[in-house]
Amino acid sequence: MQFGPCATVDRNALRHNLAQVRRCAPTSRVMAVVKANAYGHGIVPVAKALISADAFGVARLGEALALREAGLGNPIVLLEGVFSVEELAAAAEHGLELVVHSFEQLDMLDAWQPTRRLHVWFKLDTGMNRLGFRLEHFGEAWARLTRSTAVAARPRLMTHLASADETTTAYTGGQIRRFRELADDIGLERSIANSAGLLAWPEARLEWVRPGLALYGISPFDDRWASDLGLQPAMTLATQLIAIRDVKAGETVGYGGAWRAERDTRVGIAAIGYGDGYPRHAVNGTPVRVRDKLVQLIGRVSMDMIALDLSAMSDAAVGDPVVLWGEGLPAEDVANYASTIPYELVCAVNQRVAMEYK
Ligand SMILES: *Cc1c(COP(=O)(O)O)cnc(C)c1O
Repeated sequence: MQFGPCATVDRNALRHNLAQVRRCAPTSRVMAVVKANAYGHGIVPVAKALISADAFGVARLGEALALREAGLGNPIVLLEGVFSVEELAAAAEHGLELVVHSFEQLDMLDAWQPTRRLHVWFKLDTGMNRLGFRLEHFGEAWARLTRSTAVAARPRLMTHLASADETTTAYTGGQIRRFRELADDIGLERSIANSAGLLAWPEARLEWVRPGLALYGISPFDDRWASDLGLQPAMTLATQLIAIRDVKAGETVGYGGAWRAERDTRVGIAAIGYGDGYPRHAVNGTPVRVRDKLVQLIGRVSMDMIALDLSAMSDAAVGDPVVLWGEGLPAEDVANYASTIPYELVCAVNQRVAMEYK
């Protein structure tokens, strides 16, 4: 193992999670969402591991081009569509599929001299109020889309759920009902569900599902761990202990003296910090795994280091492996202590962290 922070991504876990998604939605095709550098896991190696996905979903043109440059020939969907006629031309050249969610995008399709017809996903806003045509504009927008000479036959219909992770809310049922009242009669392929949608809402599975987080082995729910869902964490973020010291009762540790020893305490310093993407808002008591034991973060997270309470580990030694999340410590748990969501934790792992694939 090399020195310093390293994120190890387990390809078998990725493939296992895709298989688990397919078991959960056996009649659906799977658009594997690999935007934001595959949620920090590395877009090209992740896409290669998930080559059996029916399509990839990305947010931006550059992400799609990275996949094409790596030789991936799967269908690729631009989940926010294109933002200029130039992007439209590039999308056509590289055989990308587009989400169309606005009248501006319909104007771009009209303004473009089509070189080939593009496969499109027509996005309806059923309550997220972010992207998509409002239901009262459906007739006009749909007529324009289907008339366009830039659009291939059989566009697909999609929407996005705002609160699918809250399994007791009535809001999601309303979104699914509004979408299906419109889409079911049209006889085209439909897609509603992200990870939480496909795991918790059977009526949302339909012809296509669009999992992101679940593929990385992380639970989208507050009250269920990935292991409850049969998912395996794909990323383990690890580093090592670089120093151990004894701190006397009453002394403080780290910037601002944000933690004070109540009794003589053995303190370990691990080589990772917010400069690597470890959350600075992680509070005293955030769990960290040293070898096979869970210990607690103490004091403020520095740019390159964190401090740990090793009182319960008299045998800990400099060089010992430290796991921040992944195997044996779900990112879901760490996110709770850092007032964030596991999505943000994995996305934040940055260039300074070595990536390894096994
Ligand atoms: C990011 C995204 C997804 C995947 O969401 P997860 O919660 O990670 O499963 C699905 N659909 C759209 C439109 C997205 O933007």
